[in-house]
Amino acid sequence: MTQNPADLSADLDARARELDAHVFHSWSAQAQHPSLVIASGRGCRVWDHAGREWLDVSSQMVNTNIGHQHPSVVSAIREQAELLTTVAPATVNLARGEAARRIVSHAPAGFQKVFFTNGGADAVENAIRMARLHTGRDKILSTYRSYHGNTGAAIVATGDWRRIPNEFARGHVHFFGPYLYRSEFWATSPEQEAERALRHLSRVIEAEGPASIAAVLLETVPGTAGILVPPPGYLAGVRELCDRHGILLILDEVMCGFGRTGRWLALDGYDVRPDLITFAKGVNSGYVPVGGVIVSEQVAATFDERVFPGGLTYSGHPLAMASIVAALDAMESEGIVDNARRIGAEAIAPGLAALADRHAVIGEVRGEGVFWAIEFVVDRATREPVPASTIARIKAALVDRGVLPFTAENRIHFVPPCIVTAEEVDEAIAVFDEVLGSTDWARA
Ligand code: PMP
Repeated sequence: MTQNPADLSADLDARARELDAHVFHSWSAQAQHPSLVIASGRGCRVWDHAGREWLDVSSQMVNTNIGHQHPSVVSAIREQAELLTTVAPATVNLARGEAARRIVSHAPAGFQKVFFTNGGADAVENAIRMARLHTGRDKILSTYRSYHGNTGAAIVATGDWRRIPNEFARGHVHFFGPYLYRSEFWATSPEQEAERALRHLSRVIEAEGPASIAAVLLETVPGTAGILVPPPGYLAGVRELCDRHGILLILDEVMCGFGRTGRWLALDGYDVRPDLITFAKGVNSGYVPVGGVIVSEQVAATFDERVFPGGLTYSGHPLAMASIVAALDAMESEGIVDNARRIGAEAIAPGLAALADRHAVIGEVRGEGVFWAIEFVVDRATREPVPASTIARIKAALVDRGVLPFTAENRIHFVPPCIVTAEEVDEAIAVFDEVLGSTDWARA
Protein backbone atom coordinates (compact mmCIF):
# COMPACT_ATOMS: atom_id res chain seq x y z
CA MET A 1 0.00 0.00 0.00
CA THR A 2 1.21 3.53 -0.75
CA GLN A 3 2.75 5.36 2.16
CA ASN A 4 1.78 8.77 3.46
CA PRO A 5 4.38 11.20 2.08
CA ALA A 6 3.47 14.07 4.47
CA ASP A 7 5.32 14.97 7.67
CA LEU A 8 3.90 12.88 10.46
CA SER A 9 2.88 15.21 13.23
CA ALA A 10 -0.46 15.61 14.95
CA ASP A 11 0.73 19.13 15.87
CA LEU A 12 0.51 20.14 12.20
CA ASP A 13 -3.14 19.03 12.10
CA ALA A 14 -3.86 21.22 15.13
CA ARG A 15 -1.96 24.10 13.49
CA ALA A 16 -3.92 23.67 10.23
CA ARG A 17 -7.24 23.81 12.15
CA GLU A 18 -6.09 26.92 14.05
CA LEU A 19 -5.05 28.72 10.84
CA ASP A 20 -8.35 27.79 9.24
CA ALA A 21 -9.92 30.60 11.30
CA HIS A 22 -8.57 32.91 8.55
CA VAL A 23 -10.26 31.01 5.72
CA PHE A 24 -13.70 32.15 4.54
CA HIS A 25 -15.22 28.88 3.34
CA SER A 26 -17.51 28.40 0.35
CA TRP A 27 -21.09 27.10 0.78
CA SER A 28 -20.72 27.47 4.57
CA ALA A 29 -21.81 29.35 7.64
CA GLN A 30 -18.47 30.64 8.84
CA ALA A 31 -18.99 29.59 12.46
CA GLN A 32 -18.90 25.96 11.32
CA HIS A 33 -15.40 24.81 10.45
CA PRO A 34 -14.66 21.63 8.54
CA SER A 35 -12.73 19.23 10.77
CA LEU A 36 -11.10 16.97 8.18
CA VAL A 37 -7.46 17.86 7.53
CA ILE A 38 -6.06 16.59 4.24
CA ALA A 39 -2.31 17.00 3.93
CA SER A 40 -1.29 14.64 1.16
CA GLY A 41 -2.55 12.12 -1.35
CA ARG A 42 -1.46 9.31 -3.67
CA GLY A 43 -3.74 7.46 -6.06
CA CYS A 44 -7.09 6.85 -4.35
CA ARG A 45 -5.84 7.64 -0.83
CA VAL A 46 -5.39 10.79 1.25
CA TRP A 47 -3.81 11.40 4.65
CA ASP A 48 -3.74 13.98 7.42
CA HIS A 49 -0.50 15.03 9.08
CA ALA A 50 -0.92 12.46 11.85
CA GLY A 51 -0.96 9.65 9.29
CA ARG A 52 -4.70 8.88 9.40
CA GLU A 53 -5.66 7.46 6.03
CA TRP A 54 -8.82 7.70 3.94
CA LEU A 55 -9.85 5.84 0.82
CA ASP A 56 -11.18 8.71 -1.30
CA VAL A 57 -14.36 7.60 -3.07
CA SER A 58 -15.36 11.26 -3.55
CA SER A 59 -12.45 12.13 -5.87
CA GLN A 60 -12.55 15.37 -3.79
CA MET A 61 -14.97 17.39 -5.95
CA VAL A 62 -15.51 14.48 -8.35
CA ASN A 63 -12.43 15.66 -10.20
CA THR A 64 -9.32 13.59 -9.40
CA ASN A 65 -10.00 11.17 -12.26
CA ILE A 66 -6.37 10.01 -12.53
CA GLY A 67 -6.01 9.92 -8.73
CA HIS A 68 -3.87 12.08 -6.53
CA GLN A 69 -0.28 12.99 -7.44
CA HIS A 70 0.11 11.12 -10.70
CA PRO A 71 3.92 11.29 -11.12
CA SER A 72 4.01 12.21 -14.82
CA VAL A 73 1.53 15.06 -14.34
CA VAL A 74 3.41 16.37 -11.32
CA SER A 75 6.67 16.30 -13.35
CA ALA A 76 5.04 18.04 -16.30
CA ILE A 77 3.88 20.84 -14.03
CA ARG A 78 7.36 21.06 -12.51
CA GLU A 79 9.04 21.18 -15.94
CA GLN A 80 6.64 23.85 -17.20
CA ALA A 81 7.25 25.86 -14.02
CA GLU A 82 10.97 25.93 -14.84
CA LEU A 83 10.23 27.22 -18.35
CA LEU A 84 7.39 29.73 -18.02
CA THR A 85 4.75 30.07 -15.31
CA THR A 86 2.46 32.68 -16.83
CA VAL A 87 1.74 34.08 -20.28
CA ALA A 88 -0.88 36.44 -21.74
CA PRO A 89 -3.78 34.73 -23.54
CA ALA A 90 -3.19 36.68 -26.78
CA THR A 91 0.11 34.95 -27.50
CA VAL A 92 1.00 31.66 -29.18
CA ASN A 93 2.17 29.02 -26.75
CA LEU A 94 3.11 25.43 -27.52
CA ALA A 95 1.59 23.91 -24.37
CA ARG A 96 -1.73 25.67 -25.02
CA GLY A 97 -1.93 24.40 -28.59
CA GLU A 98 -1.00 20.87 -27.49
CA ALA A 99 -3.68 20.90 -24.79
CA ALA A 100 -6.33 22.17 -27.22
CA ARG A 101 -5.38 19.60 -29.86
CA ARG A 102 -5.58 16.73 -27.38
CA ILE A 103 -8.96 17.93 -26.10
CA VAL A 104 -10.53 18.22 -29.56
CA SER A 105 -9.16 14.78 -30.42
CA HIS A 106 -11.65 13.41 -27.87
CA ALA A 107 -14.58 15.53 -29.11
CA PRO A 108 -17.01 14.51 -31.86
CA ALA A 109 -16.27 15.41 -35.50
CA GLY A 110 -16.74 19.09 -36.27
CA PHE A 111 -15.06 20.48 -33.13
CA GLN A 112 -11.65 22.09 -33.73
CA LYS A 113 -11.29 24.87 -31.17
CA VAL A 114 -11.10 25.24 -27.38
CA PHE A 115 -11.75 28.39 -25.33
CA PHE A 116 -9.94 28.03 -21.98
CA THR A 117 -11.31 29.26 -18.66
CA ASN A 118 -10.29 28.92 -15.01
CA GLY A 119 -12.90 26.30 -14.11
CA GLY A 120 -16.36 24.95 -14.84
CA ALA A 121 -18.62 27.87 -13.96
CA ASP A 122 -16.85 30.35 -16.23
CA ALA A 123 -16.87 27.71 -18.98
CA VAL A 124 -20.67 27.69 -18.69
CA GLU A 125 -20.79 31.53 -18.62
CA ASN A 126 -18.81 31.72 -21.85
CA ALA A 127 -20.76 28.95 -23.58
CA ILE A 128 -23.96 30.87 -22.78
CA ARG A 129 -22.41 34.07 -24.15
CA MET A 130 -21.30 32.32 -27.35
CA ALA A 131 -24.77 30.83 -27.84
CA ARG A 132 -26.46 34.20 -27.38
CA LEU A 133 -24.09 35.98 -29.76
CA HIS A 134 -24.29 33.20 -32.36
CA THR A 135 -28.09 33.03 -32.40
CA GLY A 136 -28.90 36.66 -31.55
CA ARG A 137 -31.40 35.20 -29.08
CA ASP A 138 -31.65 35.57 -25.35
CA LYS A 139 -33.18 32.69 -23.43
CA ILE A 140 -31.33 29.72 -21.99
CA LEU A 141 -33.36 26.65 -21.07
CA SER A 142 -31.93 24.33 -18.40
CA THR A 143 -33.28 21.77 -15.99
CA TYR A 144 -34.40 22.19 -12.40
CA ARG A 145 -32.21 19.28 -11.37
CA SER A 146 -28.81 20.49 -12.51
CA TYR A 147 -25.61 22.09 -11.37
CA HIS A 148 -23.76 24.46 -13.68
CA GLY A 149 -21.53 26.50 -11.33
CA ASN A 150 -21.70 29.32 -8.83
CA THR A 151 -21.19 32.49 -10.88
CA GLY A 152 -23.66 34.99 -12.36
CA ALA A 153 -25.44 33.13 -15.15
CA ALA A 154 -24.22 29.62 -14.28
CA ILE A 155 -25.90 29.63 -10.87
CA VAL A 156 -29.18 30.87 -12.32
CA ALA A 157 -29.02 28.19 -15.01
CA THR A 158 -28.69 25.73 -12.12
CA GLY A 159 -32.15 24.51 -11.09
CA ASP A 160 -34.05 26.19 -8.30
CA TRP A 161 -33.28 23.63 -5.59
CA ARG A 162 -30.05 25.52 -5.12
CA ARG A 163 -30.67 28.76 -6.99
CA ILE A 164 -29.02 31.85 -5.57
CA PRO A 165 -30.90 35.16 -5.97
CA ASN A 166 -29.40 37.17 -8.83
CA GLU A 167 -31.52 40.05 -10.00
CA PHE A 168 -29.17 40.78 -12.90
CA ALA A 169 -29.60 37.43 -14.62
CA ARG A 170 -32.22 37.38 -17.30
CA GLY A 171 -33.57 35.02 -19.86
CA HIS A 172 -33.28 31.80 -17.84
CA VAL A 173 -36.08 29.26 -18.06
CA HIS A 174 -36.21 25.89 -16.31
CA PHE A 175 -37.85 22.60 -17.23
CA PHE A 176 -37.99 19.07 -15.84
CA GLY A 177 -35.54 16.47 -17.14
CA PRO A 178 -35.96 12.72 -16.81
CA TYR A 179 -35.64 11.25 -13.29
CA LEU A 180 -37.18 7.82 -13.41
CA TYR A 181 -36.97 7.05 -9.69
CA ARG A 182 -38.89 10.20 -8.81
CA SER A 183 -40.89 10.62 -11.98
CA GLU A 184 -44.61 11.19 -11.84
CA PHE A 185 -44.84 7.92 -13.82
CA TRP A 186 -42.83 5.83 -11.37
CA ALA A 187 -43.70 2.37 -12.57
CA THR A 188 -43.20 2.94 -16.28
CA SER A 189 -40.23 2.35 -18.55
CA PRO A 190 -37.23 4.57 -19.31
CA GLU A 191 -38.61 4.94 -22.85
CA GLN A 192 -41.85 6.40 -21.50
CA GLU A 193 -39.90 8.69 -19.18
CA ALA A 194 -37.90 10.00 -22.16
CA GLU A 195 -41.06 10.56 -24.16
CA ARG A 196 -42.75 12.39 -21.24
CA ALA A 197 -39.71 14.60 -20.73
CA LEU A 198 -39.47 15.45 -24.44
CA ARG A 199 -43.17 16.30 -24.64
CA HIS A 200 -42.76 18.58 -21.63
CA LEU A 201 -39.69 20.31 -23.13
CA SER A 202 -41.49 20.76 -26.42
CA ARG A 203 -44.37 22.51 -24.59
CA VAL A 204 -41.91 24.77 -22.72
CA ILE A 205 -40.22 25.74 -26.02
CA GLU A 206 -43.59 26.55 -27.61
CA ALA A 207 -44.73 28.53 -24.58
CA GLU A 208 -41.52 30.56 -24.38
CA GLY A 209 -41.42 31.23 -28.13
CA PRO A 210 -38.77 29.27 -30.05
CA ALA A 211 -37.40 32.42 -31.72
CA SER A 212 -36.38 33.78 -28.30
CA ILE A 213 -34.37 30.72 -27.24
CA ALA A 214 -30.59 30.70 -27.77
CA ALA A 215 -29.78 27.32 -26.25
CA VAL A 216 -30.80 24.33 -24.25
CA LEU A 217 -28.11 23.71 -21.61
CA LEU A 218 -27.88 20.20 -20.14
CA GLU A 219 -25.38 18.12 -18.24
CA THR A 220 -25.06 15.03 -20.44
CA VAL A 221 -25.39 13.02 -17.20
CA PRO A 222 -26.57 15.35 -14.41
CA GLY A 223 -24.06 14.85 -11.57
CA THR A 224 -24.48 16.83 -8.35
CA ALA A 225 -28.25 16.70 -8.86
CA GLY A 226 -28.27 12.91 -8.60
CA ILE A 227 -26.26 11.09 -11.33
CA LEU A 228 -29.30 10.82 -13.56
CA VAL A 229 -28.21 8.69 -16.54
CA PRO A 230 -30.55 9.84 -19.33
CA PRO A 231 -32.99 7.26 -20.70
CA PRO A 232 -32.50 6.01 -24.28
CA GLY A 233 -33.67 8.48 -26.90
CA TYR A 234 -33.82 11.51 -24.60
CA LEU A 235 -30.70 13.39 -25.69
CA ALA A 236 -31.28 12.62 -29.38
CA GLY A 237 -34.84 13.88 -28.90
CA VAL A 238 -33.60 17.13 -27.35
CA ARG A 239 -31.24 17.58 -30.30
CA GLU A 240 -34.14 17.09 -32.69
CA LEU A 241 -36.26 19.70 -30.88
CA CYS A 242 -33.33 22.14 -30.94
CA ASP A 243 -32.76 21.56 -34.67
CA ARG A 244 -36.42 22.10 -35.43
CA HIS A 245 -36.27 25.58 -33.87
CA GLY A 246 -32.71 26.76 -34.60
CA ILE A 247 -31.77 26.40 -30.93
CA LEU A 248 -28.20 25.47 -29.91
CA LEU A 249 -27.47 22.53 -27.62
CA ILE A 250 -24.81 23.05 -24.93
CA LEU A 251 -23.72 19.87 -23.18
CA ASP A 252 -22.06 20.47 -19.80
CA GLU A 253 -19.41 17.77 -19.35
CA VAL A 254 -17.65 19.47 -16.44
CA MET A 255 -18.34 16.56 -14.07
CA CYS A 256 -19.29 13.70 -16.39
CA GLY A 257 -16.52 14.29 -18.98
CA PHE A 258 -13.01 12.87 -19.33
CA GLY A 259 -13.43 9.34 -18.08
CA ARG A 260 -16.00 9.55 -15.29
CA THR A 261 -18.67 7.52 -17.12
CA GLY A 262 -16.15 5.02 -18.50
CA ARG A 263 -16.14 6.91 -21.80
CA TRP A 264 -13.93 9.82 -22.83
CA LEU A 265 -16.93 12.12 -22.91
CA ALA A 266 -20.30 11.08 -21.53
CA LEU A 267 -21.88 12.13 -24.83
CA ASP A 268 -19.98 9.34 -26.61
CA GLY A 269 -22.65 7.00 -25.29
CA TYR A 270 -25.49 8.80 -27.09
CA ASP A 271 -26.53 9.62 -30.58
CA VAL A 272 -26.20 13.36 -30.08
CA ARG A 273 -23.91 16.07 -31.39
CA PRO A 274 -24.00 19.32 -29.38
CA ASP A 275 -22.91 22.77 -30.56
CA LEU A 276 -20.83 23.61 -27.49
CA ILE A 277 -19.28 21.36 -24.83
CA THR A 278 -18.12 22.64 -21.44
CA PHE A 279 -15.41 20.80 -19.51
CA ALA A 280 -13.16 21.21 -16.43
CA LYS A 281 -12.42 18.82 -13.51
CA GLY A 282 -11.37 15.51 -15.11
CA VAL A 283 -9.48 17.10 -18.02
CA ASN A 284 -6.42 17.46 -15.75
CA SER A 285 -7.89 15.98 -12.56
CA GLY A 286 -7.86 19.41 -10.94
CA TYR A 287 -4.08 19.57 -10.46
CA VAL A 288 -4.19 23.20 -11.67
CA PRO A 289 -7.52 25.06 -11.98
CA VAL A 290 -8.78 24.98 -15.57
CA GLY A 291 -11.91 24.55 -17.67
CA GLY A 292 -13.16 25.54 -21.05
CA VAL A 293 -15.56 25.34 -23.95
CA ILE A 294 -15.07 23.05 -26.94
CA VAL A 295 -16.54 25.06 -29.81
CA SER A 296 -18.10 23.56 -32.92
CA GLU A 297 -16.83 24.84 -36.26
CA GLN A 298 -20.25 26.35 -36.95
CA VAL A 299 -20.30 28.46 -33.76
CA ALA A 300 -16.59 29.27 -34.02
CA ALA A 301 -17.16 30.68 -37.55
CA THR A 302 -19.42 33.39 -36.08
CA PHE A 303 -16.32 34.83 -34.49
CA ASP A 304 -13.99 34.60 -37.50
CA GLU A 305 -14.40 38.30 -38.25
CA ARG A 306 -16.39 39.41 -35.24
CA VAL A 307 -14.66 39.86 -31.87
CA PHE A 308 -15.65 37.43 -29.15
CA PRO A 309 -16.03 39.76 -26.15
CA GLY A 310 -14.79 37.34 -23.50
CA GLY A 311 -11.44 36.61 -21.89
CA LEU A 312 -9.66 35.90 -18.64
CA THR A 313 -6.13 36.75 -17.53
CA TYR A 314 -5.40 33.07 -16.91
CA SER A 315 -7.05 31.66 -20.03
CA GLY A 316 -4.65 28.94 -21.20
CA HIS A 317 -2.38 29.22 -18.15
CA PRO A 318 0.87 27.35 -18.90
CA LEU A 319 0.80 25.19 -15.75
CA ALA A 320 -2.80 24.18 -16.47
CA MET A 321 -1.97 23.45 -20.12
CA ALA A 322 1.07 21.32 -19.26
CA SER A 323 -1.04 19.39 -16.74
CA ILE A 324 -3.79 18.74 -19.33
CA VAL A 325 -1.31 17.36 -21.86
CA ALA A 326 0.30 15.07 -19.27
CA ALA A 327 -3.02 13.99 -17.74
CA LEU A 328 -4.57 13.09 -21.09
CA ASP A 329 -1.37 11.29 -22.13
CA ALA A 330 -1.49 9.26 -18.92
CA MET A 331 -5.18 8.47 -19.39
CA GLU A 332 -4.51 7.26 -22.93
CA SER A 333 -1.34 5.28 -22.29
CA GLU A 334 -2.56 3.66 -19.04
CA GLY A 335 -6.05 2.75 -20.25
CA ILE A 336 -7.59 4.75 -17.39
CA VAL A 337 -10.95 5.39 -19.10
CA ASP A 338 -11.29 1.72 -19.90
CA ASN A 339 -10.50 0.90 -16.28
CA ALA A 340 -13.35 3.17 -15.14
CA ARG A 341 -15.76 1.36 -17.47
CA ARG A 342 -14.61 -2.12 -16.44
CA ILE A 343 -14.53 -1.44 -12.69
CA GLY A 344 -17.97 0.16 -12.94
CA ALA A 345 -19.44 -2.90 -14.60
CA GLU A 346 -17.48 -5.61 -12.77
CA ALA A 347 -17.02 -4.24 -9.24
CA ILE A 348 -19.12 -1.15 -8.44
CA ALA A 349 -22.43 -2.22 -10.01
CA PRO A 350 -22.54 -5.66 -8.34
CA GLY A 351 -21.04 -4.30 -5.09
CA LEU A 352 -23.64 -1.56 -4.71
CA ALA A 353 -26.48 -3.88 -5.79
CA ALA A 354 -25.47 -6.31 -3.03
CA LEU A 355 -25.36 -3.43 -0.56
CA ALA A 356 -28.89 -2.38 -1.59
CA ASP A 357 -30.08 -5.99 -1.14
CA ARG A 358 -28.82 -5.98 2.44
CA HIS A 359 -29.98 -2.52 3.54
CA ALA A 360 -33.59 -1.38 3.09
CA VAL A 361 -32.59 2.25 3.68
CA ILE A 362 -31.17 2.23 0.14
CA GLY A 363 -33.96 3.08 -2.29
CA GLU A 364 -31.94 2.95 -5.48
CA VAL A 365 -28.38 2.70 -6.75
CA ARG A 366 -27.72 4.02 -10.26
CA GLY A 367 -24.82 5.07 -12.42
CA GLU A 368 -22.10 3.91 -14.78
CA GLY A 369 -18.30 3.90 -14.87
CA VAL A 370 -17.07 5.48 -11.63
CA PHE A 371 -20.16 7.71 -11.39
CA TRP A 372 -22.74 6.23 -8.97
CA ALA A 373 -25.46 7.54 -6.66
CA ILE A 374 -26.89 5.70 -3.65
CA GLU A 375 -30.29 7.17 -2.85
CA PHE A 376 -31.41 6.73 0.78
CA VAL A 377 -35.10 6.52 1.72
CA VAL A 378 -37.10 6.20 4.91
CA ASP A 379 -39.44 3.74 3.19
CA ARG A 380 -38.95 1.92 -0.11
CA ALA A 381 -42.67 1.97 -0.87
CA THR A 382 -43.14 5.74 -0.55
CA ARG A 383 -39.56 6.61 -1.58
CA GLU A 384 -39.55 9.35 1.04
CA PRO A 385 -35.98 10.67 1.22
CA VAL A 386 -34.05 10.43 4.50
CA PRO A 387 -33.28 13.89 5.93
CA ALA A 388 -29.95 15.51 5.11
CA SER A 389 -29.00 15.13 8.80
CA THR A 390 -29.05 11.31 8.39
CA ILE A 391 -26.71 11.56 5.41
CA ALA A 392 -24.40 13.78 7.46
CA ARG A 393 -24.27 11.12 10.19
CA ILE A 394 -23.67 8.28 7.73
CA LYS A 395 -20.89 10.35 6.19
CA ALA A 396 -19.32 10.99 9.62
CA ALA A 397 -19.40 7.25 10.37
CA LEU A 398 -17.75 6.46 7.01
CA VAL A 399 -15.07 9.10 7.54
CA ASP A 400 -14.46 7.71 11.01
CA ARG A 401 -13.78 4.31 9.45
CA GLY A 402 -11.44 5.67 6.77
CA VAL A 403 -13.71 6.19 3.73
CA LEU A 404 -14.30 9.62 2.24
CA PRO A 405 -17.64 9.88 0.35
CA PHE A 406 -19.38 12.67 -1.64
CA THR A 407 -22.83 13.61 -0.31
CA ALA A 408 -25.78 15.60 -1.69
CA GLU A 409 -29.34 15.86 -0.31
CA ASN A 410 -30.49 12.30 0.57
CA ARG A 411 -27.70 10.68 -1.42
CA ILE A 412 -24.14 9.46 -1.21
CA HIS A 413 -22.28 9.52 -4.48
CA PHE A 414 -19.79 6.70 -4.97
CA VAL A 415 -17.36 8.47 -7.31
CA PRO A 416 -13.79 7.18 -6.86
CA PRO A 417 -10.96 8.09 -9.23
CA CYS A 418 -11.04 6.32 -12.62
CA ILE A 419 -7.89 4.41 -11.57
CA VAL A 420 -9.67 2.66 -8.67
CA THR A 421 -9.07 -1.09 -8.37
CA ALA A 422 -11.65 -3.82 -7.67
CA GLU A 423 -9.95 -4.40 -4.30
CA GLU A 424 -10.35 -0.75 -3.33
CA VAL A 425 -14.02 -0.83 -4.37
CA ASP A 426 -14.56 -3.96 -2.25
CA GLU A 427 -12.75 -2.34 0.68
CA ALA A 428 -14.95 0.77 0.52
CA ILE A 429 -18.18 -1.21 0.09
CA ALA A 430 -17.31 -3.39 3.11
CA VAL A 431 -17.05 -0.19 5.18
CA PHE A 432 -20.42 1.01 3.82
CA ASP A 433 -21.89 -2.38 4.76
CA GLU A 434 -20.56 -2.11 8.30
CA VAL A 435 -21.80 1.48 8.75
CA LEU A 436 -25.25 0.80 7.25
CA GLY A 437 -25.63 -2.27 9.47
CA SER A 438 -24.61 -0.41 12.64
CA THR A 439 -28.04 1.15 13.25
CA ASP A 440 -31.51 1.50 11.70
CA TRP A 441 -30.75 4.57 9.58
CA ALA A 442 -34.32 4.87 8.28
CA ARG A 443 -35.40 5.67 11.81
CA ALA A 444 -32.16 7.07 13.22
N1 PMP B 1 -20.92 22.24 -14.32
C1 PMP B 1 -21.02 21.05 -13.70
C2 PMP B 1 -21.76 19.94 -14.36
C3 PMP B 1 -20.44 20.85 -12.44
O1 PMP B 1 -20.55 19.67 -11.82
C4 PMP B 1 -19.71 21.92 -11.85
C5 PMP B 1 -19.02 21.78 -10.50
N2 PMP B 1 -19.44 20.78 -9.70
C6 PMP B 1 -19.64 23.13 -12.54
C7 PMP B 1 -20.24 23.25 -13.78
C8 PMP B 1 -18.88 24.29 -11.97
O2 PMP B 1 -17.53 24.05 -11.97
P1 PMP B 1 -16.53 24.91 -11.06
O3 PMP B 1 -16.89 24.58 -9.63
O4 PMP B 1 -15.17 24.46 -11.49
O5 PMP B 1 -16.76 26.34 -11.35
